[in-house]
Amino acid sequence: MNQFQQASASSSILYIVPTPIGNLNDITFRALLILKSVSLIAVEHARHTALLLQRFSITTRMFELHNYNEKQRSSFLLEKLKKGESIALVSDAGTPIINDPGYRLVRRCREASIRVVPLPGACAAIAALSASGLPSNRFCYEGFLPVRKKARLAMLSALKEQTRTMIFYESNHRLLKTLNDMKVVWGSLRYVVLARELTKIWEIIHGAPIYEILNWVKQDKWQQRGEIVILVEGHQIQKNSLPNGAKQTFLLLLSELSLKKAVMLASQIYGIKKSILYRFGLDFQQNRNVT
Ligand code: SAM
Repeated sequence: MNQFQQASASSSILYIVPTPIGNLNDITFRALLILKSVSLIAVEHARHTALLLQRFSITTRMFELHNYNEKQRSSFLLEKLKKGESIALVSDAGTPIINDPGYRLVRRCREASIRVVPLPGACAAIAALSASGLPSNRFCYEGFLPVRKKARLAMLSALKEQTRTMIFYESNHRLLKTLNDMKVVWGSLRYVVLARELTKIWEIIHGAPIYEILNWVKQDKWQQRGEIVILVEGHQIQKNSLPNGAKQTFLLLLSELSLKKAVMLASQIYGIKKSILYRFGLDFQQNRNVT
Protein backbone atom coordinates (compact mmCIF):
# COMPACT_ATOMS: atom_id res chain seq x y z
CA MET A 1 0.00 0.00 0.00
CA ASN A 2 1.58 3.34 -0.99
CA GLN A 3 1.22 6.57 0.93
CA PHE A 4 -1.76 7.63 -1.22
CA GLN A 5 -3.70 4.48 -0.43
CA GLN A 6 -3.09 4.59 3.32
CA ALA A 7 -6.23 4.09 5.39
CA SER A 8 -5.27 6.59 8.07
CA ALA A 9 -3.71 10.03 8.29
CA SER A 10 0.07 10.45 8.06
CA SER A 11 1.98 12.83 10.30
CA SER A 12 2.52 16.53 9.51
CA ILE A 13 -0.17 16.73 6.83
CA LEU A 14 -3.04 19.17 6.53
CA TYR A 15 -5.97 17.36 4.88
CA ILE A 16 -8.68 19.42 3.13
CA VAL A 17 -11.84 17.37 3.67
CA PRO A 18 -15.15 18.19 1.91
CA THR A 19 -18.35 17.33 3.79
CA PRO A 20 -21.93 16.83 2.46
CA ILE A 21 -24.00 19.83 1.30
CA GLY A 22 -27.26 18.22 2.42
CA ASN A 23 -27.22 14.47 1.90
CA LEU A 24 -25.05 12.77 4.54
CA ASN A 25 -24.50 9.80 2.22
CA ASP A 26 -22.26 12.05 0.14
CA ILE A 27 -19.41 11.74 2.66
CA THR A 28 -16.63 9.61 1.17
CA PHE A 29 -14.94 6.55 2.73
CA ARG A 30 -11.63 8.35 2.59
CA ALA A 31 -13.06 11.43 4.33
CA LEU A 32 -14.32 9.24 7.18
CA LEU A 33 -10.97 7.47 7.52
CA ILE A 34 -9.09 10.75 7.63
CA LEU A 35 -11.51 12.42 10.07
CA LYS A 36 -11.21 9.41 12.37
CA SER A 37 -7.42 9.25 12.33
CA VAL A 38 -6.19 12.87 12.41
CA SER A 39 -5.27 14.34 15.77
CA LEU A 40 -7.43 17.44 15.34
CA ILE A 41 -10.20 18.71 13.04
CA ALA A 42 -10.22 22.45 12.25
CA VAL A 43 -13.90 23.38 11.83
CA GLU A 44 -15.94 26.46 11.00
CA HIS A 45 -18.59 25.88 13.70
CA ALA A 46 -18.07 23.05 16.19
CA ARG A 47 -21.80 22.72 16.87
CA HIS A 48 -22.47 22.15 13.17
CA THR A 49 -19.67 19.64 12.53
CA ALA A 50 -20.46 17.79 15.79
CA LEU A 51 -23.68 16.49 14.18
CA LEU A 52 -21.74 14.98 11.28
CA LEU A 53 -19.11 13.46 13.56
CA GLN A 54 -21.78 12.02 15.85
CA ARG A 55 -23.57 10.44 12.88
CA PHE A 56 -20.39 8.54 11.94
CA SER A 57 -19.18 7.87 15.51
CA ILE A 58 -16.09 10.02 15.13
CA THR A 59 -14.66 11.33 18.38
CA THR A 60 -11.71 13.40 17.10
CA ARG A 61 -11.27 16.76 18.85
CA MET A 62 -12.36 19.95 17.06
CA PHE A 63 -10.84 23.40 16.91
CA GLU A 64 -12.77 26.39 15.50
CA LEU A 65 -11.25 28.46 12.70
CA HIS A 66 -13.15 31.47 11.34
CA ASN A 67 -12.30 34.16 8.82
CA TYR A 68 -11.90 36.72 11.61
CA ASN A 69 -9.47 34.64 13.74
CA GLU A 70 -7.78 32.61 11.00
CA LYS A 71 -4.48 34.46 11.16
CA GLN A 72 -3.91 33.90 14.85
CA ARG A 73 -5.42 30.40 15.02
CA SER A 74 -3.39 29.25 11.99
CA SER A 75 -0.21 29.80 14.03
CA PHE A 76 -1.47 27.34 16.65
CA LEU A 77 -2.33 24.74 13.98
CA LEU A 78 0.97 25.26 12.19
CA GLU A 79 2.91 24.54 15.40
CA LYS A 80 1.01 21.27 15.83
CA LEU A 81 1.71 20.23 12.23
CA LYS A 82 5.40 21.03 12.65
CA LYS A 83 5.47 18.76 15.71
CA GLY A 84 4.19 15.86 13.59
CA GLU A 85 0.44 16.00 14.21
CA SER A 86 -2.00 15.59 11.34
CA ILE A 87 -4.95 17.93 10.96
CA ALA A 88 -8.12 17.88 8.85
CA LEU A 89 -9.77 21.10 7.73
CA VAL A 90 -13.55 21.01 7.18
CA SER A 91 -16.19 23.71 6.84
CA ASP A 92 -19.90 23.64 7.69
CA ALA A 93 -20.68 22.08 4.31
CA GLY A 94 -19.04 21.35 0.97
CA THR A 95 -15.43 21.94 0.05
CA PRO A 96 -13.54 24.01 2.65
CA ILE A 97 -12.04 27.27 1.34
CA ILE A 98 -14.65 27.63 -1.44
CA ASN A 99 -16.35 30.69 0.10
CA ASP A 100 -15.34 29.27 3.46
CA PRO A 101 -12.36 29.94 5.78
CA GLY A 102 -8.99 28.27 5.35
CA TYR A 103 -6.93 29.66 2.48
CA ARG A 104 -4.62 31.59 4.82
CA LEU A 105 -3.89 28.41 6.74
CA VAL A 106 -3.15 26.55 3.49
CA ARG A 107 -0.85 29.33 2.32
CA ARG A 108 1.08 29.30 5.59
CA CYS A 109 1.43 25.50 5.43
CA ARG A 110 2.76 25.71 1.90
CA GLU A 111 5.20 28.47 2.88
CA ALA A 112 6.42 26.25 5.75
CA SER A 113 6.77 23.25 3.36
CA ILE A 114 4.03 21.34 5.18
CA ARG A 115 2.15 19.00 2.87
CA VAL A 116 -1.46 19.91 2.06
CA VAL A 117 -3.54 17.01 0.78
CA PRO A 118 -6.92 17.77 -0.83
CA LEU A 119 -9.69 15.18 -0.78
CA PRO A 120 -12.26 15.47 -3.59
CA GLY A 121 -15.90 15.73 -2.57
CA ALA A 122 -19.10 17.76 -2.42
CA CYS A 123 -19.11 21.32 -3.76
CA ALA A 124 -22.39 23.11 -4.57
CA ALA A 125 -20.89 25.06 -7.49
CA ILE A 126 -19.55 21.99 -9.29
CA ALA A 127 -22.63 19.85 -8.58
CA ALA A 128 -24.86 22.63 -9.97
CA LEU A 129 -22.67 23.15 -13.04
CA SER A 130 -22.63 19.44 -13.84
CA ALA A 131 -26.43 19.31 -14.06
CA SER A 132 -27.05 22.76 -15.56
CA GLY A 133 -26.72 21.88 -19.23
CA LEU A 134 -24.55 24.99 -19.68
CA PRO A 135 -21.14 24.85 -21.38
CA SER A 136 -18.62 23.74 -18.78
CA ASN A 137 -15.25 23.52 -20.54
CA ARG A 138 -14.70 27.13 -19.54
CA PHE A 139 -16.52 28.64 -16.57
CA CYS A 140 -15.90 31.18 -13.86
CA TYR A 141 -16.86 30.99 -10.23
CA GLU A 142 -17.90 34.39 -8.88
CA GLY A 143 -19.04 33.42 -5.36
CA PHE A 144 -21.41 35.90 -3.69
CA LEU A 145 -22.13 39.22 -5.41
CA PRO A 146 -21.58 42.32 -3.26
CA VAL A 147 -24.50 43.07 -0.92
CA ARG A 148 -24.59 46.83 -1.61
CA LYS A 149 -26.63 47.63 -4.70
CA LYS A 150 -24.13 50.03 -6.27
CA ALA A 151 -21.25 47.57 -5.95
CA ARG A 152 -23.46 44.69 -7.13
CA LEU A 153 -24.53 46.57 -10.27
CA ALA A 154 -20.91 47.54 -10.97
CA MET A 155 -19.84 43.90 -10.69
CA LEU A 156 -22.66 42.75 -13.00
CA SER A 157 -21.69 45.42 -15.55
CA ALA A 158 -18.07 44.25 -15.43
CA LEU A 159 -19.28 40.70 -16.17
CA LYS A 160 -21.68 41.70 -18.97
CA GLU A 161 -19.43 40.51 -21.77
CA GLN A 162 -18.00 37.50 -19.95
CA THR A 163 -18.27 34.65 -22.44
CA ARG A 164 -17.78 31.82 -19.94
CA THR A 165 -20.57 30.21 -17.92
CA MET A 166 -20.76 32.10 -14.61
CA ILE A 167 -21.52 30.55 -11.22
CA PHE A 168 -22.84 32.60 -8.28
CA TYR A 169 -23.78 31.68 -4.73
CA GLU A 170 -26.69 33.65 -3.30
CA SER A 171 -28.61 33.77 -0.07
CA ASN A 172 -32.32 33.14 -0.39
CA HIS A 173 -33.40 36.56 0.92
CA ARG A 174 -31.39 38.38 -1.77
CA LEU A 175 -32.40 36.09 -4.65
CA LEU A 176 -35.15 38.31 -6.11
CA LYS A 177 -33.00 41.46 -5.92
CA THR A 178 -30.08 39.71 -7.59
CA LEU A 179 -32.19 38.23 -10.41
CA ASN A 180 -33.77 41.62 -10.97
CA ASP A 181 -30.37 43.34 -11.15
CA MET A 182 -29.13 40.66 -13.57
CA LYS A 183 -32.15 41.36 -15.79
CA VAL A 184 -31.54 45.12 -15.70
CA VAL A 185 -27.83 44.84 -16.55
CA TRP A 186 -27.78 41.81 -18.88
CA GLY A 187 -31.25 41.97 -20.46
CA SER A 188 -34.28 39.75 -19.89
CA LEU A 189 -33.29 37.06 -22.37
CA ARG A 190 -30.03 35.90 -20.77
CA TYR A 191 -30.37 32.19 -19.91
CA VAL A 192 -30.16 31.38 -16.22
CA VAL A 193 -30.25 28.11 -14.27
CA LEU A 194 -31.34 28.05 -10.64
CA ALA A 195 -30.02 25.07 -8.63
CA ARG A 196 -31.77 24.96 -5.26
CA GLU A 197 -31.43 22.61 -2.30
CA LEU A 198 -28.97 20.32 -4.09
CA THR A 199 -28.78 16.75 -2.74
CA LYS A 200 -31.78 17.43 -0.45
CA ILE A 201 -35.41 16.23 -0.64
CA TRP A 202 -36.66 19.38 -2.40
CA GLU A 203 -33.79 19.65 -4.86
CA ILE A 204 -34.80 21.52 -8.00
CA ILE A 205 -32.76 22.60 -11.02
CA HIS A 206 -34.58 24.85 -13.47
CA GLY A 207 -33.32 26.86 -16.44
CA ALA A 208 -35.01 29.61 -18.52
CA PRO A 209 -34.45 33.22 -19.68
CA ILE A 210 -34.06 35.60 -16.70
CA TYR A 211 -37.50 37.17 -17.07
CA GLU A 212 -39.17 33.73 -16.84
CA ILE A 213 -37.07 32.68 -13.85
CA LEU A 214 -37.89 35.97 -12.15
CA ASN A 215 -41.65 35.50 -12.68
CA TRP A 216 -41.45 31.91 -11.49
CA VAL A 217 -39.59 32.85 -8.30
CA LYS A 218 -41.94 35.80 -7.64
CA GLN A 219 -45.05 33.66 -8.05
CA ASP A 220 -43.80 30.61 -6.16
CA LYS A 221 -42.44 31.86 -2.81
CA TRP A 222 -41.19 28.32 -2.12
CA GLN A 223 -38.43 28.98 -4.68
CA GLN A 224 -37.12 31.80 -2.47
CA ARG A 225 -36.15 29.38 0.29
CA GLY A 226 -33.20 27.15 1.02
CA GLU A 227 -29.73 27.22 -0.50
CA ILE A 228 -29.23 28.42 -4.03
CA VAL A 229 -26.67 28.44 -6.83
CA ILE A 230 -27.31 30.71 -9.83
CA LEU A 231 -25.66 29.74 -13.10
CA VAL A 232 -25.66 32.15 -16.02
CA GLU A 233 -24.93 31.48 -19.65
CA GLY A 234 -21.93 33.47 -20.89
CA HIS A 235 -22.34 36.41 -23.27
CA GLN A 236 -23.09 35.14 -26.76
CA ILE A 237 -20.99 36.97 -29.29
CA GLN A 238 -23.21 38.11 -32.18
CA LYS A 239 -21.96 37.39 -35.66
CA ASN A 240 -20.03 40.41 -36.97
CA SER A 241 -19.95 42.12 -33.60
CA LEU A 242 -17.17 42.24 -31.01
CA PRO A 243 -17.55 43.03 -27.30
CA ASN A 244 -16.04 46.41 -26.35
CA GLY A 245 -13.34 44.91 -24.12
CA ALA A 246 -12.20 42.59 -26.93
CA LYS A 247 -12.22 45.47 -29.45
CA GLN A 248 -9.97 47.61 -27.25
CA THR A 249 -7.48 44.80 -26.62
CA PHE A 250 -7.47 43.81 -30.28
CA LEU A 251 -6.78 47.39 -31.44
CA LEU A 252 -4.00 47.67 -28.87
CA LEU A 253 -2.45 44.45 -30.18
CA LEU A 254 -2.90 45.67 -33.75
CA SER A 255 -0.96 48.86 -33.01
CA GLU A 256 2.08 46.75 -32.06
CA LEU A 257 1.71 43.56 -34.12
CA SER A 258 0.82 42.32 -37.58
CA LEU A 259 -2.86 41.68 -38.30
CA LYS A 260 -2.24 37.93 -38.29
CA LYS A 261 -0.55 37.94 -34.86
CA ALA A 262 -3.11 40.33 -33.34
CA VAL A 263 -5.94 38.11 -34.60
CA MET A 264 -4.30 34.99 -33.24
CA LEU A 265 -3.73 36.47 -29.75
CA ALA A 266 -7.16 38.14 -29.43
CA SER A 267 -8.83 34.93 -30.57
CA GLN A 268 -6.95 32.97 -27.89
CA ILE A 269 -7.71 35.51 -25.15
CA TYR A 270 -11.43 35.97 -25.86
CA GLY A 271 -12.36 32.74 -27.63
CA ILE A 272 -13.61 34.75 -30.64
CA LYS A 273 -13.57 33.31 -34.16
CA LYS A 274 -10.52 34.45 -36.13
CA SER A 275 -12.67 35.31 -39.18
CA ILE A 276 -14.63 37.91 -37.14
CA LEU A 277 -11.42 39.50 -35.91
CA TYR A 278 -9.89 39.52 -39.40
CA ARG A 279 -12.95 41.28 -40.81
CA PHE A 280 -12.92 43.86 -38.04
CA GLY A 281 -9.13 44.36 -38.36
CA LEU A 282 -9.26 44.79 -42.14
CA ASP A 283 -12.17 47.25 -41.88
CA PHE A 284 -10.26 49.23 -39.27
CA GLN A 285 -7.07 49.32 -41.34
CA GLN A 286 -8.91 50.36 -44.52
CA ASN A 287 -10.83 53.14 -42.73
CA ARG A 288 -7.59 54.39 -41.15
CA ASN A 289 -5.91 54.58 -44.57
CA VAL A 290 -8.86 56.53 -46.05
CA THR A 291 -8.97 59.22 -43.30
N1 SAM B 1 -17.96 25.49 0.61
C1 SAM B 1 -19.29 25.35 0.07
C2 SAM B 1 -19.23 24.56 -1.24
O1 SAM B 1 -18.27 23.83 -1.46
O2 SAM B 1 -20.17 24.64 -2.03
C3 SAM B 1 -19.97 26.69 -0.08
C4 SAM B 1 -20.14 27.46 1.19
S1 SAM B 1 -20.97 28.98 0.98
C5 SAM B 1 -20.71 29.70 2.56
C6 SAM B 1 -22.66 28.53 1.10
C7 SAM B 1 -23.41 28.75 -0.22
O3 SAM B 1 -23.22 27.60 -1.06
C8 SAM B 1 -24.93 28.84 -0.08
O4 SAM B 1 -25.34 30.16 0.22
C9 SAM B 1 -25.40 28.42 -1.45
O5 SAM B 1 -25.29 29.47 -2.37
C10 SAM B 1 -24.38 27.32 -1.80
N2 SAM B 1 -24.88 26.00 -1.36
C11 SAM B 1 -24.45 25.26 -0.34
N3 SAM B 1 -25.14 24.12 -0.25
C12 SAM B 1 -26.05 24.14 -1.25
C13 SAM B 1 -27.07 23.25 -1.69
N4 SAM B 1 -27.30 22.11 -1.06
N5 SAM B 1 -27.82 23.59 -2.76
C14 SAM B 1 -27.59 24.76 -3.40
N6 SAM B 1 -26.65 25.64 -3.02
C15 SAM B 1 -25.88 25.34 -1.97
